[in-house]
Amino acid sequence: MAAARARAQNLRRELERHNRLYYVVAAPEISDRDFDEMLRELQELEAAYPELATPESPTQRVGGEPLEGFRSVTHAVPMMSLDNTYTFAELREFDARVCKGLGVESVAYVLEPKVDGVSISLRYERGHLVLAATRGNGKEGDDITANARTIRAVPLRIATDAAVVEVRGEVYLGASAFARLNARREQAGESPFANPRNATAGSLKQLDPKVVAARPLAAVFYATGALEGLAFDTQTQLLQSLPELGFPVSRLWWECQGIDEVVARIEELQQRESELDYAIDGAVVKVNSFRQWRQLGATAKAPRYAMAYKYSHEQAQTRLKAITLQVGRTGVLTPVAELEPVALAGSTIARATLHNEDEIRRKDIRMGDTVIVEKAGEVIPAVVGVVADLRPPGTAPFDLRAHAGGTCPVCGGDISRDPAAAAWRCENLDCPAQIRGRSEHFVSRKAMDIEGLGEAMIEALTSETRVEQTVDDGLFGVRTDERMLPPAVRDVADLYALTAEAIEWRRPNRAADAKKQTLKLATKLCAAIEASKGNELWRLIHGLGIPNVGEGLARKLAQELGSLDALMAADEEALATIPDVGGIVATSVREFFSLERNREVIEKLRRAGVRFDRVERVAQTANADGFFFGKRVVLTGTLEAYTRDEAQEELRRCGARVVGTVGKTTDVVVAGDAAGSKLQKAQTLGIPVLDEAQFRRRLEESERS
Ligand code: AMP
Ligand code: ZN
Repeated sequence: MAAARARAQNLRRELERHNRLYYVVAAPEISDRDFDEMLRELQELEAAYPELATPESPTQRVGGEPLEGFRSVTHAVPMMSLDNTYTFAELREFDARVCKGLGVESVAYVLEPKVDGVSISLRYERGHLVLAATRGNGKEGDDITANARTIRAVPLRIATDAAVVEVRGEVYLGASAFARLNARREQAGESPFANPRNATAGSLKQLDPKVVAARPLAAVFYATGALEGLAFDTQTQLLQSLPELGFPVSRLWWECQGIDEVVARIEELQQRESELDYAIDGAVVKVNSFRQWRQLGATAKAPRYAMAYKYSHEQAQTRLKAITLQVGRTGVLTPVAELEPVALAGSTIARATLHNEDEIRRKDIRMGDTVIVEKAGEVIPAVVGVVADLRPPGTAPFDLRAHAGGTCPVCGGDISRDPAAAAWRCENLDCPAQIRGRSEHFVSRKAMDIEGLGEAMIEALTSETRVEQTVDDGLFGVRTDERMLPPAVRDVADLYALTAEAIEWRRPNRAADAKKQTLKLATKLCAAIEASKGNELWRLIHGLGIPNVGEGLARKLAQELGSLDALMAADEEALATIPDVGGIVATSVREFFSLERNREVIEKLRRAGVRFDRVERVAQTANADGFFFGKRVVLTGTLEAYTRDEAQEELRRCGARVVGTVGKTTDVVVAGDAAGSKLQKAQTLGIPVLDEAQFRRRLEESERS
């Protein structure tokens, strides 16, 4: 008996450990067969010695007695739905609302897959599973504890004795499990399920838990409900802690600085969807900080701190005529599918991305194949697969190097494979395609923001230009001379050496309206380029295109260091101490500035008079919860107790930006005596106005809270 007890305990511990390795860590050490073998042994032991059985034994996952029906339960914390969108434009509007609501310029988000399963809430008291419930109408759901207990990804006990822990996630059926389930149903003469989601929902509503136990349901978790004796500060921390408690989380999720990175990660997620075991129908963006969640709150229906971005998949079939290689600003060669034009999602497409060589090989896409193209949401069209039956004879697997003839298709330079990025790169930093890409990035809206320098103009400035000139030299009469002008821009600093004439000669549609003989456009462009010299430092840092430094980080580096020279002088150690700057970023900043060539460009920029140190400081010590934090405030009229300078100083200390004119982006106007047009403007625009007493009260609150 003592031996049996010891063996049973040992088996339980091992079974739980293997269960965790399988579902949470996704790194099983033993085969399913060995697992079942151990489970059977434990069942036999518990049958022989019923006093050894425990309610949380892994054997209990086989399911108990059939139920009469499901009891309705009230959620301690409602299970809300999410606002959703299909477009990046609306996602950016969401970001703008969040930034505005928080009074900040950029927010840290977490991006997760939107799991297309059935949501579930699990309640643990002192570490024991006491309740599993469906979402129901959000306030009340069904008690499906008996069914949930059969799901191996649902821990029956968790590694905490906190009084209450409610964890929420999705139950799903993996693709292969779903296929097997349907095959079995068809054999048994039952109708197959339409999709994994229906099969999952149907399973959870089974009244016989033994039937549920036979279905290989899995689960992932991403949120909490009621918590007592346990707390989290951020979504990142939550997603890192859940596996430690015993809950599987998505294999893919990202912390993102700002909305641009969110968009990039959504595209990455789409590309890597096949790495996930479950179907997804989009992505969920959540503000990372729970303190900010509380600041933003929720509407009756959905939280204001999260948004679902849903895919609207549309597919079409067409023939792959050719694969071309595009060279980007970092030299990466991106394969692009040239297609027989086909109608897709409301437009005709003739090109689609193939992502990279590995993806082409994984999908075994070959020239001449009939391929499936897909457009999801606003993501650019992509080739997602081939119709194998329609493959013509004599094709070969794709080999990017051979396809490119071993060299860069633009400059003929050497190419090499970057193992980290699954990409081939042109190694020639003077490659015209790279210069063009770097210039486009430098002038783009999120960098130096130079208006009028579109793609065509950049292309013209970075290439050789053929110009025709009509010459009348009297002696030989009128003739047409042809000249080749060299590229005007070979690095981004050359932009600042451009003259209106140099631009005019290369202006893309010059021939068409050359007769106007006007330098108006070119002169305007020159002025815009000139004006960009005074830009804020973060724009310059972002514009330089340092690998791994996006807009958000560029802002941070500018704030922390105050000048480009300080950034260039900072060593890796100093960089790594800056919040959000990890080792990877620190290394890539160092590497960037250690390249002779980059330093030369920077010195050229300096000589041209580009400002290296314009930073609008956001007060470092300000209380981020205070009323004025991050707000744009306009002062007008005279205050009794403060001079204009004092009032400004107070506001800055609270983290506000004091601006001169009232506009749509103004958050608050402080109006003293004899306030004039600014007050009027604020009233017409509906901008909140504080009088002196209110101003003082808000200041005091800001300092206290
Ligand atoms: P909807 O049903 O379209 O309103 O979307 C909201 C639901 O998406 C939530 O109630 C969850 O059940 C589900 N969901 C799936 N994946 C996630 C995730 N990563 N984060 C939050 N909710 C998710
Ligand atoms: Zn090249």
